[in-house]
Amino acid sequence: MACGQCVAVCPTGALMLKRSVDDVRAAIADPAKTVVVVPAPAVRVGLGDKLGMPVGANVEGKMVAALRHLGFDKVFDVDWAADVTIMEEGTELIGRIKDGGTMPMFTSCCPGWIKYMEHNHPDMLGNLSTCRSPQQMMGGLVKTYWAEKEGLDPKDVVVVSVMPCTAKKFEVSREEQILENGCMPVDFSITTRELSDMIVEAGIMFDVLPDEAFDPVLGDSTGAAVIFGATGGVMEAALRTAAVVLAGEGADVPLVFEDVRGMEGVKEATYEVGGVTLRTCTASGLVNAEKVIRAMEAGEVAYDFIEVMACPGGCVNGAGQPVHTPAEHALGNVKGRRAAGLYGIDENMPRRRSHENPEVKALYADYLGEPCGHKAHHILHTTYVARDKHNV
Ligand code: SF4
Repeated sequence: MACGQCVAVCPTGALMLKRSVDDVRAAIADPAKTVVVVPAPAVRVGLGDKLGMPVGANVEGKMVAALRHLGFDKVFDVDWAADVTIMEEGTELIGRIKDGGTMPMFTSCCPGWIKYMEHNHPDMLGNLSTCRSPQQMMGGLVKTYWAEKEGLDPKDVVVVSVMPCTAKKFEVSREEQILENGCMPVDFSITTRELSDMIVEAGIMFDVLPDEAFDPVLGDSTGAAVIFGATGGVMEAALRTAAVVLAGEGADVPLVFEDVRGMEGVKEATYEVGGVTLRTCTASGLVNAEKVIRAMEAGEVAYDFIEVMACPGGCVNGAGQPVHTPAEHALGNVKGRRAAGLYGIDENMPRRRSHENPEVKALYADYLGEPCGHKAHHILHTTYVARDKHNV
């Protein structure tokens, strides 16, 4: 599945992830390339763990400063693309409900989960949202929307993602992801651990760096986007926007959906929004996802919208995050503290629903047109592959 959880827990250190740091350094050193770096939501609450900061601390500002010190030309935020993901995935869900499409719909943000479905449930690929992951949406929009605005040839733009994830390394190479301009959306995906190593090897004193802000436009995001990094976060972000869309602007709808939060393996909740009943399920860890599928197939449960994250606890606990010993885990509740860090960021954001992001509104008004429209489909959606042991 490439989720890498075996690497994260290997007691002898015999399993290693594939490093892309040398490729990234070569791109930064090439004067003909504009190198754009895009960190994921969960990276900002994991990066500090081994760099002198408390576990779960929000180090977003220091992370941005460090990325500039390392030589990246632009520092954008995958949170911006997470807001775009909600526009697309929420529109897709409402469309499936209204038009009688394939239900229930599963989220598609997690490439480990996608690969699990391709191998184990190829008959259910139609239940997966067709939305690309936020990483791929980000890269696709950098190499189309942003490159066109800047007058750059997208072939001279290198996109480097920083992810809590090893499955994202596989995802960047998927052929279905090639854009109409011939580019892959993301060139290299490095993990939080690789970035941590780059910072140490460059001699950057991370803990005393002054905070810096992301570069504008593709760095602006909402609280809904940052909670993508915790299990239940994609579900809650989608519900925040779906509730407004279904009930109408100005309606009294909830902002916080507590029932989908927390570290339980399976969480069920039903919401009535705008005259629509939404039966939701949130599963973290593939063993729990499989339990949900078997219960659905046995007719024991029924849902409309299901979020699955391959890693227990979601991306905060991804295999690309700094690894702690079992003793540190036992003392520290590492994934819980990282998740709390993300919810803390959300609470302090001026905007907490994805559709309120002015830069996302501008993206649709100036470039994409409608969510799930023709242009959005080419850049932001994808297809899946039924796989067997010969097609890994
Ligand atoms: Fe990657 Fe997050 Fe999925 Fe884990 S849960 S495989 S970190 S996307």
